[in-house]
Amino acid sequence: MIDKAAPTNFIRQIIEADLAAGRHGGRVATRFPPEPNGYLHIGHAKSIVLNFGIAEDYHGTCNLRFDDTNPHRENAEFVEAIQRDVRWLGYDWGERLYFASDYFEQLYDFAVELIDKGLAFVCDLSAEEIREHRGTLTEPGRESPYRNRSIAENRELFARMRAGEFEDGARVLRARIDMASPNINLRDPTLYRIRHGVIHHQTGEEWCIYPMYDFTHPISDALEGITHSLCTLEFEDHRPLYDWVLDNISINCHPQQIEFSRLNLEYTVVSKRKLTQLVEEGHVEGWDDPRMPTLAGMRRRGYTPASIREFCRRIGVTKSEGMVEMGVLEDALRQDLNANAERRMAVLHPLKVVITNYPEERVEELTAANHPQDESRGTRTIPFCREIYIDAADFMEVAPNKKFKRLVAGGEVRLRNSYVIRCDEVIKDADGELIELRCSYDPDTLGANPEGRKVRGVIHWVSARHAIEAEVRLYDRLFRHPTPDAVGGDFLEQLNPESVLTLTGCRLEPALADTEAGTVYQFEREGYFCRDPLDTAAGQPVFNRTVTLRDTWAKIEQQQKGS
Ligand code: ATP
Ligand code: MG
Repeated sequence: MIDKAAPTNFIRQIIEADLAAGRHGGRVATRFPPEPNGYLHIGHAKSIVLNFGIAEDYHGTCNLRFDDTNPHRENAEFVEAIQRDVRWLGYDWGERLYFASDYFEQLYDFAVELIDKGLAFVCDLSAEEIREHRGTLTEPGRESPYRNRSIAENRELFARMRAGEFEDGARVLRARIDMASPNINLRDPTLYRIRHGVIHHQTGEEWCIYPMYDFTHPISDALEGITHSLCTLEFEDHRPLYDWVLDNISINCHPQQIEFSRLNLEYTVVSKRKLTQLVEEGHVEGWDDPRMPTLAGMRRRGYTPASIREFCRRIGVTKSEGMVEMGVLEDALRQDLNANAERRMAVLHPLKVVITNYPEERVEELTAANHPQDESRGTRTIPFCREIYIDAADFMEVAPNKKFKRLVAGGEVRLRNSYVIRCDEVIKDADGELIELRCSYDPDTLGANPEGRKVRGVIHWVSARHAIEAEVRLYDRLFRHPTPDAVGGDFLEQLNPESVLTLTGCRLEPALADTEAGTVYQFEREGYFCRDPLDTAAGQPVFNRTVTLRDTWAKIEQQQKGS
């Protein structure tokens, strides 16, 4: 029992009422039922956090169940990736790993039971004909001419379907419910179809008939003793069929199906079909491309599991469809990283600075705090010497306006964690391109400004001699439109052509040399970054930008609205 607070969503309210009424023997059992036909995405995270979170809070259980009844679109790579991603998100299903395919034999027996009760029949109509017979929302359907086959004949034909005697599409098993039902899902829905020549990742070639989702799902839930079967709103109209199946077979468990709205996120897509298309057509590098809304992509990008769980908490669970702003996700991430990411210095557009009054051979080990608000994070040393790099954007010969608090010709600036320097000379090549700056440093300014001294700003830097060189990839939104699915036309036309900007020759402070993928750092003044797990090129690490320091998109959108 959740001790204190009121339930945070309507599903938890239902569960608490059920517990109070002693329903389901006081148990709470949920499941997360992915189909292994793609990688998990941020929408799935909502469902994972909901199902596993409820199990945790009500001392219940949550099963991981693969809904694997479409073998031609599923494979073992997806089965593994899904488990990896659920674990990464912070959840543990313990021993409770199931496959719907574990139940194929039992499902078959329940289908035979329906046949025996006159509630299922083998239908010889083609898929096309079945569609024609189905009717519409305003017109009832028409009964199949095979609907009144004898039980004996249905039994025999179904057995022969299983034995592989018929071709794909030649026959199906259908429930015998009501062709005039206002709910199209109840108009004699298909329960089994024939699929030859596919090797199922769990059952191999054992079966050539496969049960449909609407038949498999309620039975799998009941076999596992699920109490609350949580699914997305598009299954609301399927609930009567879910209940019909369980009411008409010999099983003594009837889970309650409860629907909630899917997560939709701006500037991306969360349909597995579309994500598959992005991968298969090469619009992204793969399922774990850091621009993908998949958990694998987000992990590679530097998202933390805690930030995704927090995001799911913030968006809540309701029945109303909506679109969540990317800013909500990124804010949850920034909040986590701001509190937990160590600070480092990295120069993305290096401009060389020679400190003319600093001795050639001298190297000082300066001390820098790893986190400005958290002393327990300790300090690190950073080398300082005669030649350093600053970012080209931190210098202008003449300040463009009063807000420019960086280095200008003849001006002073503080180097973060170091000294104040003054720009004495600007060196350009024959074409007038800036090559380097000649500066002098003030040895009395380490750590603090001397009394009465005002310095306009603080900039980051790295030692030229000690810095490591890296490639840095600046990621942006994958789509340029907030609802690429809904603008009309092909969603691919809305791909953002500038979703990644690759910078080479960036210079990072040496403490970043041996960092691990998955550890995110704040590059001071630049954003949050982490090492790419797949960069294997020795000596030239690749860093991915996880997120910018501030929500620059919000500003752009405001400007667009304002202008
Ligand atoms: P898609 O429509 O993208 O193929 P799906 O719903 O078929 O997704 P499944 O693998 O069947 O994908 O999903 C597993 C579970 O995750 C289901 O219970 C489903 O309702 C839930 N889920 C999928 N997408 C979302 C989403 N965008 N928001 C919330 N829950 C989701
Ligand atoms: Mg599904």
